[in-house]
Amino acid sequence: MFKFLQKKEQKDPICGMIADKNFISKHGEKFCSEDCVKKYEEQNQIAGTDGKKKGGCCCR
Ligand SMILES: [Zn+2]
Repeated sequence: MFKFLQKKEQKDPICGMIADKNFISKHGEKFCSEDCVKKYEEQNQIAGTDGKKKGGCCCR
């Protein structure tokens, strides 16, 4: 009657939602939306696909 599908349930580390099959798997975590992925990348300083340019380069 009460059985565990997975031993550990994964949660979105940003908003805390429990992951389901529609979640995005990235960086070994599960995210409910691209928004949370971006926040996670910002918090962990992971360069995303459209990461901010850092500072300015002088070689011009
Ligand atoms: Zn989320």
